[in-house]
Amino acid sequence: MSDTTTDSVVLQTRDLTKRFGSLTAVDDVTWSVEAGKTKAIIGPNGAGKSTFFNVISGVFPPTSGEMMLNGEPITKKKEHEIARLGLVKTYQKSNIYGESTVFDNIRIAAQTNETTFNMWSKASDLTSVNQRTEDVLERLGLSEERDRTADELPHGLQRKIEIGIALATDPDIILFDEPIAGMSEDGRQEMLSVLQNLSNDPSLTIVITEHDFDLVMNLAEEITVLHQGSVLTEGTPDEISADKQVQRVYLGGE
Ligand code: ADP
Ligand code: MG
Repeated sequence: MSDTTTDSVVLQTRDLTKRFGSLTAVDDVTWSVEAGKTKAIIGPNGAGKSTFFNVISGVFPPTSGEMMLNGEPITKKKEHEIARLGLVKTYQKSNIYGESTVFDNIRIAAQTNETTFNMWSKASDLTSVNQRTEDVLERLGLSEERDRTADELPHGLQRKIEIGIALATDPDIILFDEPIAGMSEDGRQEMLSVLQNLSNDPSLTIVITEHDFDLVMNLAEEITVLHQGSVLTEGTPDEISADKQVQRVYLGGE
C-alpha cells in the first residue's frame, strides 16, 4: 500500500468508524484516493460500502475518526458543505425535478455552484451557467433530450441526468454507488461508456462501488476490498483478482 500523505491525495479518511446502535457498519477505515484516479470499493452485501459513501459525503456523521478533502477537515461538515468543497455523490433519481426539462435540471445544479449568482447577477454569470449546462449535456450525450421533461425519459437517461446534476457543480471527486444496478443491458453499456469517459478525465477523481466485477476490473485503477466494515486489502485489479483471500471472502460470498 502506498503512502497516503502525498500532495496529490484528494480525499482521505483516518480510523473512520460508523456505528448504528451495536452494529459497526464502517470499522476503523484508513483510506485515501489520489487526484484523477478511479478507485473502486468492492465487498459482499452488507460490507459497509454504501455506509462508507454516506459518511464521506456527509449524509451521516461518522461515529469517530476523521476525513479530509483537499487537505481540509470535513469530519463535521454536512452534505451540502462537502459538495461545495468539491465532493458529490450521485443519486438514483432522487435529485431530479421530474416535471422540469433535462436542460433545467442540469442548469439548476450549475447555478447552485455559481457562488456569485443572485437575483442581480450579471448577464455574464448567466452565460457561464448556460455554457456549463451545455457542456454537461454534450458530455453525457443528452443534448437531443434537452427539452424533454425528466419524468418522460427512460430509466437509463434519468440516471444520466443524475450524473449531469453532479457534474454541473464542477466537482473534484464524484462517488457512484452501484451505478449500473438494475439497468437493462443497453443501459449498462451506455452507462459504462459514460463512466469510461469520466474516468479518462484527469481532473476528475472517481470512487465507485459495483457488484459487477467485470465493470470494476475495466474501470478502476485501484480497488479497496471491504469486509465487515474493515479494509481487507487494496491493490490493482490484477492483484485483487489474484488474491486468494479476496476470492474466498468476496467472490465466494456473493
Ligand atoms: P453495502 O453497501 O456494502 O451492501 P451497507 O453500508 O448498506 O453495505 O450496510 C452495512 C451494514 O450497515 C449492514 O449490516 C446494514 O444493514 C447496516 N445499515 C446500513 N444503513 C443503515 C441504517 N441507516 N441504519 C441501520 N443500519 C444500517
Ligand atoms: Mg450498498
